[in-house]
Amino acid sequence: MQLKVFKFGGASVKDAEGFINVGKILQKYKDDKIVIVVSAMGKTTNALEEVVKSYYAGDGKAAELLENIKNNHFQLISQLIPVSAEIMDDINDTFVEIDWILEESPHDDYDYAYDQIVSIGELLSSKILAHYLHYMKISSTWLDIRDVILTDNTYRDARIQWETTQTNAKNKIEPLLKSANHVVTQGFIGSTSENFTTTLGREGSDYTAAILSYCLDAESMHIWKDVPGVLTGDPRIFDEVIKLPRLSYKEAIEMTYYGAKVIHPKTIKPIQNKQIPLYVRPFLDPASEGTVISDQKELSYPPIIVIEPDQTLLHISTNDFSFVAEHHLSMIFALLAKYRLKVNMMRNTAISFTVCVNNIPERIKKFENELGQEFKMITDNDLELVTIRHFNEDVLKDMKKNKLILFEEKLQDTVQMVVRNLPKMKRKETQ
Ligand code: ADP
Ligand code: ASP
Ligand code: MG
Repeated sequence: MQLKVFKFGGASVKDAEGFINVGKILQKYKDDKIVIVVSAMGKTTNALEEVVKSYYAGDGKAAELLENIKNNHFQLISQLIPVSAEIMDDINDTFVEIDWILEESPHDDYDYAYDQIVSIGELLSSKILAHYLHYMKISSTWLDIRDVILTDNTYRDARIQWETTQTNAKNKIEPLLKSANHVVTQGFIGSTSENFTTTLGREGSDYTAAILSYCLDAESMHIWKDVPGVLTGDPRIFDEVIKLPRLSYKEAIEMTYYGAKVIHPKTIKPIQNKQIPLYVRPFLDPASEGTVISDQKELSYPPIIVIEPDQTLLHISTNDFSFVAEHHLSMIFALLAKYRLKVNMMRNTAISFTVCVNNIPERIKKFENELGQEFKMITDNDLELVTIRHFNEDVLKDMKKNKLILFEEKLQDTVQMVVRNLPKMKRKETQ
């Protein structure tokens, strides 16, 4: 079956206007077979994370925080469509399950509870979109993606069970597309074999769209964003960025691996395996192709800059000043994997091993505790990891301005540096 996969992120459905715009885009594709993957509205996932934190802190505020989220959703619905009892029930049912959880005392496993609660963001936004499309008379049907995407039980970072997911996708989604043109479903969430909800990691909706594109052999995948496409840097950080009209899968993998926030890093591999082109497109200018990511021969690119904020350097040495030998390294790596600390950069010298990781204090603490007496660990916080692909000397000089470089590495066409931003010193006026 010829079909496309569209993914609408939180920014595209942050308010009623956003849903109306999504409706306009879909109107243009109303005769095409499309699987629509939608994220939670705006910053809903962050708000749901606060509910979980408050529930575990036992500060009595969780129910009130959830009530605010409920009100925001109902307010949006009333701006979008005539509210019927059926729609109210559909949305209320989603909240009731969380109300029940909050009435019980917290489960031992925080990550498990997190997934049961935070996952409602996508259930709500997809239900609202489905009701809106129905109201707009756009042929569509709502699907609970937990009936398709099977994962293991690594809560908050669940791994896909590909074979079953692929069979489910073919058996459940293709028949739905025979009776309606569009299937509306959720990004970010999946289910274990015991029917517990899992999540795929923050910003995971792009990955869901890639999983479905792969499993259904989509002709193309389209991610609708609040930017013109993939740019040479994050426009929230840099002024003079330009759009990259075309990117190879390889370049996109490199950029996202180094932390470019525009696409989730796990997204590219599945679609590359099946050679499915990915279009990163502006939802405010639907006529534009945005950036096409496909199997291009290597192109020549301008310098591309990726900034990963909030980095920590861990300097690990042995307490008896002996060398950090291979058996130490294998133990250190096993612990890094155990506590899911991704190695962004590393260096081994005679007496110390230095590694740059995202600053996740609770995991770093557990890692340090388990390293044990044999090792000493010193940390450097408040750092940034700057990666420049296809660098030139001008860009390098610019990026080093007002920065203390703690760590720098050049590989062929990539420079990486761990830096601390220095305050600009200005000389006092002489009296
Ligand atoms: P959504 O969740 O709506 O899908 P995101 O906020 O996750 O969207 O991603 C879009 C944002 O990614 C942009 O607003 C932009 O600030 C940021 N971004 C970071 N790096 C880049 C880049 N290289 N090109 C384009 N956008 C980028
Ligand atoms: N809603 C989830 C998040 O904000 C997933 C996503 O938007 O991709 O992380
Ligand atoms: Mg996002």
